[in-house]
Amino acid sequence: MDNQDKLETRLVQGGRPEKALEATVNHPVHRASTVIYPDLGTYLGRNEDGRRYSNITYGATGTHNARALAAAVADLEGGHGTVVTSTGLSAITMTLAALLSSGDHVLVSDSVYAPTRNFCANVLARYGVTTTYYDPGVGAGIADLMRPETRLVFTEAPGSLSFEMQDIPAIVAAVHARGALVAMDNTWATPLYFRPIDHGVDVSIQAGTKYVAGHSDLVIGLITSATQEVHRRIFDTTRTYGDVASPDDCFLALRGLRTMSVRLARQAESAMTVATWLNERPQVRRVLFPALPSDPGHALWKRDFSGASSLFGVVMERGDLDSVTRFVDALRLFCIGSSWGGYESLVAAYPTPLARDVVPFDEVPFLVRLHVGLEDPEDLIADLEQALAKAG
Ligand SMILES: *Cc1c(COP(=O)(O)O)cnc(C)c1O
Repeated sequence: MDNQDKLETRLVQGGRPEKALEATVNHPVHRASTVIYPDLGTYLGRNEDGRRYSNITYGATGTHNARALAAAVADLEGGHGTVVTSTGLSAITMTLAALLSSGDHVLVSDSVYAPTRNFCANVLARYGVTTTYYDPGVGAGIADLMRPETRLVFTEAPGSLSFEMQDIPAIVAAVHARGALVAMDNTWATPLYFRPIDHGVDVSIQAGTKYVAGHSDLVIGLITSATQEVHRRIFDTTRTYGDVASPDDCFLALRGLRTMSVRLARQAESAMTVATWLNERPQVRRVLFPALPSDPGHALWKRDFSGASSLFGVVMERGDLDSVTRFVDALRLFCIGSSWGGYESLVAAYPTPLARDVVPFDEVPFLVRLHVGLEDPEDLIADLEQALAKAG
């Protein structure tokens, strides 16, 4: 593909079947355990180094659908290669398992997606890897937290639920100066609005479950590495653990990717309209959304990101369970549910204090999170207005 093409062009073109007579626009779904070979020599040579990273050899390492999705995502991320995993969470845990060994130390953002924290506490600790958490506002100060055995910094911006921004370029510079790697969970921005690898990050992770899939009907993970060395370590780890995504889910995720730029552009615009309106309501203390000029992370967001997606937090003036329940239960267009990134609007509420080690988050007993979908934003605002009136 032509590297001069813009991202919107690349996500339409990447990973498509070769032009040929009777080719279809999309790869058909290749369901497989077994891949067959024309002769024994080819079969015996199937796993030779260099070949096992590109050839389709067995269903448990992904068929054409996974390779096509991986090719399209690697191109979009500007990375060396992408590994497709069974869930967004396994994209995170496989990366940690690939890059950390007994005796190593990992620094993790205090605002990280909570299951990432659970993996560090419940699995990495048993395997002799020490985790410490850092203030998402740390910036270049991450240097002071690094130890001789620090191998990896795991970051996520904005943070899950609390939406703090981070100075990624400053963190990358400090971490690389000490010979360690940086991995980033970039599910919120997607590579359309922030390209981690362009900013020096070594491993860019997306829960493809969210905006890539875009229709709330599958779970999948995407791990893109800047270099061949790191890509191979991660590919070999997923193979060792036997983590793979189904061909049907890869097909649907790639179908979702084709329209991600238009969905995201529309959802981002509506989210900005809704968040701006909400931020001025008397029942709302503050909206946690870096695209808003009032957000403490706005300057960093504006410097490094080219857009904001459609997920944000809401701190209600009265964040008690009664009032939050009245508000959420009164909503008609925002369905109550976990996950996000689909075409539909969602609402959820989370009890505080959030799991934290460094910076507590306990401003109100319940934090509300909204995901803005493709509905008309005026309808969404009308829905929120009638529900806010019931919140008291
Ligand atoms: C949802 C999510 C994940 C995990 O994705 P699953 O496919 O649900 O496992 C990881 N990171 C972030 C930031 C998420 O929101």
